[in-house]
Amino acid sequence: MAQITLSNLAHSYLAKPSTPDDWALKEMNHVWNDGEAYALLGASGCGKSTLLNIISGLLHPSEGKILFGDTDVTDTTTAERNIAQVFQFPVVYDTMTVRENLAFPLKNRRAPAEYIRDRVQTIGAMIGMEAELDRRARGLTADAKQKISLGRGMVREDVNAILFDEPLTVIDPHMKWALRTQLKELHQQFGHTMIYVTHDQTEALTFADKVVVMHEGRVVQMGTPQQLFDTPEHTFVGYFIGSPGMNLVPAQVLGNRAALETGEVGLAGTYPALDGKVEIGVRPEFVTLTDADTGLPVRVRRVEDVGRHKIVRADLFGQDINVIVPEGQEIGADMSRVVFDPARVNVYQNDWRVTPLEQKGA
Ligand code: ADP
Ligand code: MG
Repeated sequence: MAQITLSNLAHSYLAKPSTPDDWALKEMNHVWNDGEAYALLGASGCGKSTLLNIISGLLHPSEGKILFGDTDVTDTTTAERNIAQVFQFPVVYDTMTVRENLAFPLKNRRAPAEYIRDRVQTIGAMIGMEAELDRRARGLTADAKQKISLGRGMVREDVNAILFDEPLTVIDPHMKWALRTQLKELHQQFGHTMIYVTHDQTEALTFADKVVVMHEGRVVQMGTPQQLFDTPEHTFVGYFIGSPGMNLVPAQVLGNRAALETGEVGLAGTYPALDGKVEIGVRPEFVTLTDADTGLPVRVRRVEDVGRHKIVRADLFGQDINVIVPEGQEIGADMSRVVFDPARVNVYQNDWRVTPLEQKGA
């Protein structure tokens, strides 16, 4: 196993890229720690599969290098990199039995027969197909075939990393949760480096130690679910993670005050003068709806009761703002102001988070 380093990596599918939009991956530098479980999260088309295929060796990057440990593997094949990859749609050999399909990667590596038998049995149980091991893959449902693909990805214990590209897309919703739990257990048991691509935040947050958020060909943040929640480094992370996502409000920021169109907000940090597009970001969890006469005036448009809490959709000087109100708390007709928790307000300049010069209480 190895630490994976991406050094000045960039990729374009065009022969002569000219504008920034021509690059599916913009230049990036990242280190993926050995043995960690990562989720690669982002909207469709942001470059997740491109990045995964470059790491596995299916695609050669236009620029930059990939290192495993200290070794440059940029020009090596997937087999030489010793990587297992599971794709969105099943890749199985129809004429082989389930058992033969699962055994295939081990046979290829000339593993001892006894070991293969035991290992296939274990993996068969893991994917819930013990009873079907001697059936031919032909005629099985897409769901079952994808489970075989997953099993094949997991069967070898000696791989450097296992990469999953939205592997549960064709899997029945009930089975999804069970399989994701299995993958997590497998990770805890064997400690392989795993990279799991998804566009679903719940899937990412439940699977991974670290979530890598991609946006428009860039990795905008690599962090624990808690870090993504507390300090989104890019407005996209704030918006994409959370339900609903972070509120963003245009502001003028100076020192420890943010001036909005209809009032002022206190900040826990101290900031230098900022130019460009400046916004403050605060998650709905840290906005309080109040009937006091302090705070910013809002007009409540709608209340959604989602069981655990209520989501209040309101209007703040013509802009949407969401507030999470704990279950059981009344929402009175005279509640027409919101207060932000200063410690939970982040400041953004041109979509990137600004680190405060000083932080109160830090
Ligand atoms: P994701 O997996 O996040 O949905 P992809 O990595 O598949 O995103 O795609 C990133 C961008 O690269 C998209 O704009 C997509 O249209 C483009 N792209 C992907 N594969 C190819 C290809 N083989 N040839 C040309 N463009 C591609
Ligand atoms: Mg993809």
